[in-house]
Amino acid sequence: MIILHNLEKSKELYSKAKKYIPGGVNSPVRAFKAVGCDPVFIKKGKRAYLYDEDSNKYLDYVCSWGPLIFGHANKKIIKAVEKSLRNGFTYGAPTQLEVELAQLITNCIPSIEKIRLVSSGTEATMSAIRLARAYTKKDKIIKFKGCYHGHADSFLVQMGSGGLTFSMPNSPGVLEDVAKNTILANFNNKEDIKDIFNRFKGQICAVIVEPVAGNMGVVKPENDFLNFLSEIAHENDSLLIFDEVITGFRLGLAGAQGIYKVEPDITTLGKIIGGGFPLAAFGGKSKIMDMLSPEGPVYQAGTLSGNPIACTAGITTIKMLIEDPPYDRLEKITKYLTEEIQKIFKKYSISSYISQCGSMFTPFFCNDKVIDLDSALKSDIYIYSKFFQELLKRGIYPPASQFESWFVSTAHSEKDIDFTLRVIENVAKNL
Ligand SMILES: *Cc1c(COP(=O)(O)O)cnc(C)c1O
Repeated sequence: MIILHNLEKSKELYSKAKKYIPGGVNSPVRAFKAVGCDPVFIKKGKRAYLYDEDSNKYLDYVCSWGPLIFGHANKKIIKAVEKSLRNGFTYGAPTQLEVELAQLITNCIPSIEKIRLVSSGTEATMSAIRLARAYTKKDKIIKFKGCYHGHADSFLVQMGSGGLTFSMPNSPGVLEDVAKNTILANFNNKEDIKDIFNRFKGQICAVIVEPVAGNMGVVKPENDFLNFLSEIAHENDSLLIFDEVITGFRLGLAGAQGIYKVEPDITTLGKIIGGGFPLAAFGGKSKIMDMLSPEGPVYQAGTLSGNPIACTAGITTIKMLIEDPPYDRLEKITKYLTEEIQKIFKKYSISSYISQCGSMFTPFFCNDKVIDLDSALKSDIYIYSKFFQELLKRGIYPPASQFESWFVSTAHSEKDIDFTLRVIENVAKNL
């Protein structure tokens, strides 16, 4: 078993980065703070592997936090993007590529009749909420603890000590006036939702949810939770928004909604639909989407929205997924991997619950099933940190936080899975 020692160049780059970039990174989780070590700086990615600046090689289970369903530097995507680059980078004018991508996505996801392209998931969810407020003429949204919907002000809210009615910002700079319109609920908890709809009668514009949560670690909806959300939202003339930025094209061609057979009013997409480039989207019923400018009065815009390079990568990715859907194989290989990890942990008496859905999974270090944020928080993050560090040293790159999803790509071979299991067995002995 190789143990990596040399991270000199990464360390050098990190101290230099901290001089010029707050915390040395452009997105907080990259700093490895939650796992108690310094970040590695990546030089390149190829198929299922990452290579750092010191030429260490890692089997990648982050996959850029979800976009890379075909792994790094996929040849077909490179070819398409190279060709597209020669036609210019951006025009600020409509293109055939945008129409093609919009058509592909709406064909795959029946609840989306019309769609608008943006450049990040944050933009997609932020715009979806604006649209929902305009459409319903109501102010408040229900959001679930542990679900992440990007970093727009409305979503950076945490329950204050006053209980569910008293929503406080959890980042300085977010106005209490904004936070008070975000009502928090527990994932998988129907009573919470009933309560909130009673308490704020006629004020809820939308329920927004990750239909399979990926941002508190992977947490699946129990029983008919998503159906319940759809019913109660519609009884109250509110909208249901599925944030499928991770799950869209990850769990299947129609995302989580295709698997759980629940149709939201608005869907947000990102990550995979850009094929590794900055592209996201929100879409839904025509009568809602047609409220957007220039058709309707709700303003929304973007200089690089529908960027031709990103659209090309997205179109190529989705076409490859349609032509040869990888979902059964991904599910099979991921299920095998997680079942074997579970066996290893059991053998060494390590308390664990491994949550898996399609090619997403999270090993939690706790005794009970994880169904919401509170149960996820019971996981022993000190064990996770040690697990992370020991894996990293042995050439496996897991997410740098307990509360994230691991991703398997089509580039992960059976050999890679076996390598992973050998490493985990080696690490588990001393965990
Ligand atoms: C990643 C993510 C976002 C935010 O997307 P960005 O492109 O990072 O702004 C929103 N919702 C979910 C569910 C996500 O996983």
